[in-house]
Amino acid sequence: MKTIVSNIEENDDYNKIIKEAGEIIRKGGLVAFPTETVYGLGGDGLNPEASKKIYAAKGRPSDNPLILHICDIKQLEDIAETDDIRIKKLAEKFWPGPLTMVLKKKDIVPKSTTGGLGTVAVRMPNNKLALDLIRAANTPIAAPSANTSGRPSPTNGKRVAEDLDGKIDMILDAGSVEIGLESSIIDLTGEKACILRPGAVTKEMFEEVLGEIEVDRVVKDPSSVKEGYKPKAPGMKYRHYAPKAELKMFRGEEKKVAEEINKLAAEDEKNGLKVGIIASLETAKLYVFGEVVVIGARNDDVEIARNLYEILREFDDKKTDRIYSEVFEDGKLAKAIMNRFSKAASNNIIDIL
Ligand code: AMP
Ligand code: MG
Repeated sequence: MKTIVSNIEENDDYNKIIKEAGEIIRKGGLVAFPTETVYGLGGDGLNPEASKKIYAAKGRPSDNPLILHICDIKQLEDIAETDDIRIKKLAEKFWPGPLTMVLKKKDIVPKSTTGGLGTVAVRMPNNKLALDLIRAANTPIAAPSANTSGRPSPTNGKRVAEDLDGKIDMILDAGSVEIGLESSIIDLTGEKACILRPGAVTKEMFEEVLGEIEVDRVVKDPSSVKEGYKPKAPGMKYRHYAPKAELKMFRGEEKKVAEEINKLAAEDEKNGLKVGIIASLETAKLYVFGEVVVIGARNDDVEIARNLYEILREFDDKKTDRIYSEVFEDGKLAKAIMNRFSKAASNNIIDIL
């Protein structure tokens, strides 16, 4: 398949492109587009054929449900049960924005979109292009991240093309995204609201609106998946966001962490392996082996979130064999950063005492 790549920033014909993209979606085709979180791979969320194509293009297991993206609150009533005051409160506070709500679905939403579940995940993205596209398509757009399943999510159009060129109808390239990590997911189908995936809307922000809420066991303790606990967000059981290299993270006093990483990197290089190191601006100078990449200043969680996936993909480009990283546990986005980072590392986090 020939993929049309439209560079939005360099193109004056914005309206024409959006119209064309909307038509592709309406006819059951696939269009990748930017949102404020990561790039999405969009198809008509009410058309089972379109969701089949999404799963095929990504190589995604079909029991891993898709998020439906809407452009106004009226659209929500078509696809989900909305007589729950918490929905209205959260929508007013956080939409459009990096928040996905899991709700009881209406019959119009095919089970092939929801991974066979009776619930549907819905989000209103805070990105003009995304909202214009949903409006032009005149249907909720099912959009997982626009990457090959398992790889780090794409935070710019070039990374989308790397994974999906030739597999989808169109890519709308508008440069780099704002946040760089996927949305927060909250399950509202139970009595107590429950966080299924941490994101830029934090537990504290939810609690300001809803009072006390829960955090899913798998988010709190990722090893519980291995013990046979079935996650409520089916995507949580898959290895995710991962570079090709083996990634290990180290927690502890910064000099001791650097000492340990230097020791391992020296040994690896002696064995002919290519080593990458992810460090903060403040600690980068402590490393003497491997290729050191600065992810951001220690307290700049916004910058760290924005850089994470691109750095992992750059190490893939360079065919790095092993990546060693510090942990990044400061700031409002720390939970979301460490959730993705530790998954990319298959939970390989070593405490240096
Ligand atoms: P992605 O589209 O790659 O950002 O991932 C979407 C994630 O949302 C999936 O992996 C699921 O874990 C979660 N999700 C989507 N729909 C539902 C649902 N109905 N119930 C629970 N989790 C969901
Ligand atoms: Mg994804």
